Amino acid sequence: DPASSIEELTAQRDQARKDHADLVARGLKLDLTRGKPSPKQLDLSDALLDMGGPAVGADGTDLRNYGGLAGLPELREIFSSSLQVPTEQLLAAGNSSLELMHDAIAFAMLHGLPGGERRWADEPEIAFLCPVPGYDRHFGVCEKLGIEMINVPMTPEGPDMDTVERLVAEDSRIKGIWCVPKYSNPDGTIYSDETVRRLAAMPSAAPDFRVFWDNAYAVHHLTETEHEIADLLALCAEHGNPDRAFVFGSTSKITYAGAGVSFFGSSQANIDWWLAATSKRSIGPNKVNQLQHVRLLRDAEGLREQMRKHAALIRPKFEAVDKILGSELGDTGLASWSKPEGGYFINLEVPEGCAKAVVAKAKEAGIAMTPAGATHPYGEDPTDSVIRIAPTYPELPDVEAATQALATCVRLAATEKLLADQQG
Ligand code: PMP
Repeated sequence: DPASSIEELTAQRDQARKDHADLVARGLKLDLTRGKPSPKQLDLSDALLDMGGPAVGADGTDLRNYGGLAGLPELREIFSSSLQVPTEQLLAAGNSSLELMHDAIAFAMLHGLPGGERRWADEPEIAFLCPVPGYDRHFGVCEKLGIEMINVPMTPEGPDMDTVERLVAEDSRIKGIWCVPKYSNPDGTIYSDETVRRLAAMPSAAPDFRVFWDNAYAVHHLTETEHEIADLLALCAEHGNPDRAFVFGSTSKITYAGAGVSFFGSSQANIDWWLAATSKRSIGPNKVNQLQHVRLLRDAEGLREQMRKHAALIRPKFEAVDKILGSELGDTGLASWSKPEGGYFINLEVPEGCAKAVVAKAKEAGIAMTPAGATHPYGEDPTDSVIRIAPTYPELPDVEAATQALATCVRLAATEKLLADQQG
């Protein structure tokens, strides 16, 4: 009956208050905020620092010199199959794929896109669909460049395609959609083949609509199963929308996060457009670093081997978070969380209206969490229920201590909220 449940909740809250006070007294200083590789993961790629031979490409090109705007062919070849882009249509660029996503939009603003009627800068209004929860830096690019963002809910199969199809067909302001199709940030979702097919096939009101396919975690498996997704680029061509896919990827979480290589893949028409725009911007990328990546990874099999080493280092951290949340919160009904099979994040869902309070209580206890709301456009999660956990960077004992502490904060914030609701 309600009286005993209030009594029970009150007891739970009082215990949580005590646990939280103990936690604050311990003066922890831990950080679960950003999806960064740990120093041990970075160590896996330290061969990058030794040149290991002359800076000469497979075809004899002196890579120390200018040129080669498309990037080193032998590196593009290694990533062609995992990014599902033919080598000729896959460019290797600088150290950041986020930069390429930003530039793709900036070039569309300044020059217009193949198939477009005018430059995006000359459109009265531009909007992007943003599956939520999603990646805060995608939303930051849109906000900075004045693009309105429209939330679309995620499902276990990817974005809710009924909503996506309806909006894209009827609203010509919508020029793009952000997608992290494999092990998505933050919920770990793997897009189903049907979702990918529908994204490729759906009619769009805007003739220059693009799918921003940020395959940042294409090879970042946490289990033995190397999940594969459908080939968006090929499906777009098959369904008469050959220029729809903009594919992005990088080695940021394969080699060095700050000194890797990024990739852009698309139709030949889009690649020609990209090269025309970038040829005035640069005389060519850092091909010496690209050669170092070829020497480190060797081929697609070498890339798989490297990713298995990463998985061995970070899987225990993901398992620890799951185990601790399970034992602390599993039967309380106060939280649910994702069990990703790849990628860098765990998505924690707490009762509506609690996420900000959980993060604030964690801060009091010295645990830095990604701000609640960061997973949504404009930093606003309308349900205030989503918290992103990034367990890769801290050492395992710190991941364990931080998760334990976080669970206490969930118990405290959620019981306080539920009691407040019940007492009206
Ligand atoms: N896309 C996604 C989905 C990410 O999670 C991240 C890194 N957190 C990036 C892009 C950043 O990529 P890069 O380092 O290549 O700029």
